Amino acid sequence: MVITGITLIASASEIKKTMSTLKPEQSEHLIKLLKQRKQTLMETIAQSDQSAQPVKLDQQAFGRVTRVDALQQQSMAKASLEQSKQQLRQVLMALARFESGDYGYCLECDRPIQFARLEIRPESSLCIDCQSGKELADR
Ligand SMILES: [Zn+2]
Repeated sequence: MVITGITLIASASEIKKTMSTLKPEQSEHLIKLLKQRKQTLMETIAQSDQSAQPVKLDQQAFGRVTRVDALQQQSMAKASLEQSKQQLRQVLMALARFESGDYGYCLECDRPIQFARLEIRPESSLCIDCQSGKELADR
């Protein structure tokens, strides 16, 4: 029996896989999380688009204070709608990075992002160091 050793040489793609920090099942888990998030955000946005409509109030049933409350609630709804839209953009960008194979790497320093961090925020595009550096700079 001749052992050539060829079967022991991993293909280039297998080498790349072992270098990547994310295991296939981890990637699958994260893509599932991202798709769920996309779905939830799209539903939230569709709902708050409706609640951001001009306030209609029955003046006899609601006093002036209630009207102010309603306007305040409306502007809060608008703010959270903007936030949801922003989050959706990040989720879509993360899904695009999955497609291109760049997912899981920091956009700033190109180092792998920890799985634990991605599990909490699968749309993360920065590693924890760059993110906290950015937050400090924003202050
Ligand atoms: Zn980084």
